[in-house]
Amino acid sequence: MVEAWLVELMTAYNRDSRSQRDGYLAQLHMPGEVFQSLVWWGLQSLPDEILVGMDVNPEQPHRQDVEAYFEGDEVHERLFQGQGYVVKEARIVNRGDSYSVHHLPEDWTDDMFSADRGSRAGRFTHWLHTHPNAPAIPSGADADAAQETPGIDMILGLRFTPEGPLPWFDDVEGTRRKLSVEVEAKPRKRSFFARHALPILGRAPTGHAIHEIQLIGFHKSGVGVNIVFVDEEGYPFGWDRQTAQLVA
Ligand SMILES: [Zn+2]
Repeated sequence: MVEAWLVELMTAYNRDSRSQRDGYLAQLHMPGEVFQSLVWWGLQSLPDEILVGMDVNPEQPHRQDVEAYFEGDEVHERLFQGQGYVVKEARIVNRGDSYSVHHLPEDWTDDMFSADRGSRAGRFTHWLHTHPNAPAIPSGADADAAQETPGIDMILGLRFTPEGPLPWFDDVEGTRRKLSVEVEAKPRKRSFFARHALPILGRAPTGHAIHEIQLIGFHKSGVGVNIVFVDEEGYPFGWDRQTAQLVA
């Protein structure tokens, strides 16, 4: 089950993905269930960043009507491996700081995945790593690591409290994609602290209050890949099946 507040955020993100579609050459459809796991894992692994590998489901192509709806004016149909297929599952592969998270143990394919990845025991198609209390904007190390990715790279930025050893770090230039909704302004008691209170989007099982979620996808060439959040049937959150478009 995906939390209702997260469904709401993914719906809003999908609207942005539609309105910004001309800025992208390709898209990737991500199940809400998988995305929720990524957020929870990111918070469970603090203060580390985590590196997550993802495969697509070869039995589940993107729905054609949905694909067309999110297409921009220019499309690259063969930009990356696994293109046109919905993400199937995600696995945590590594954790560490912003540098070491990209460096996998030498024998990781042998020991960690041989049993359940069978003869394929190969690399994952897509990769995602987290930026705890920092925006989802790639660093130089991130761009380097992406050069070996057959699919796409994603960065999940999470802003949360309590911060622990990781105060919000915002001094980064780049394009941002937030998952945001209008948070209802609750009448506040007059207090010095209230002025500094961040809106709480939701709470994680770890107890963290989540204030902001950002997600970007990019190909190693540097072009952005548009992410669309979908349900188990491959329909985007916020989709109206009657009219085959997002509800306004
Ligand atoms: Zn990074």
